[in-house]
Amino acid sequence: MFTFKGSPVYIKIWFLLLFAWLSPSMVVAIFLSVLVHELAHAFAAVRLGYTVRQIYIDLFYGAAEIDLEHCPEKDSIKIIAAGPISNLLLALVSISFAAFSAQLGGWFAGTAFMAEMIYINFALFAFNLLPIYPMDGGKILRSALMMKMPKNRRLGKRIGDWVSLSTSVALFAVCVYTSSILLGIFSLLFIYFALKELNYIK
Ligand SMILES: [Zn+2]
Repeated sequence: MFTFKGSPVYIKIWFLLLFAWLSPSMVVAIFLSVLVHELAHAFAAVRLGYTVRQIYIDLFYGAAEIDLEHCPEKDSIKIIAAGPISNLLLALVSISFAAFSAQLGGWFAGTAFMAEMIYINFALFAFNLLPIYPMDGGKILRSALMMKMPKNRRLGKRIGDWVSLSTSVALFAVCVYTSSILLGIFSLLFIYFALKELNYIK
């Protein structure tokens, strides 16, 4: 699609499937919010001197592939946190813009797009910070625990995996209660990841 600080940025064809399911303004809002999120990870990584191989947006997620080998935890925490923080900022900017536009009697304030931008960015911020690996919150928790337990990093990772497992189970329970099918499938996937990380399944 384009390059960002030397790294190619792609949009996978699957993303366009969302147009069949959601309103066009919602798809554009999701696209912009996920793009800003991934670019924020990439921007933080480049600032700290790491190489970003590529950035892409797929159907249900985006990713910034960053060479984080031998990366000290304090750097990886900054790079990971940059994503959710960018969504919080974008939500606040959208609110200010909508409020400012409303002051001027502008038509833009009340558009579905502004409401969607605010909603999606707060949702991305909150959802990504759930302490579930491999989401940003889970990665931050794992890195933080391993950093705090330099003598027993394995235990640090294990505690993170257990938190991840219990949060995923709780999320699944909420999904069953609210009949959220898509999120329910995701929470099952997260439970599977956590069990795998804990070596309960191969
Ligand atoms: Zn992220």
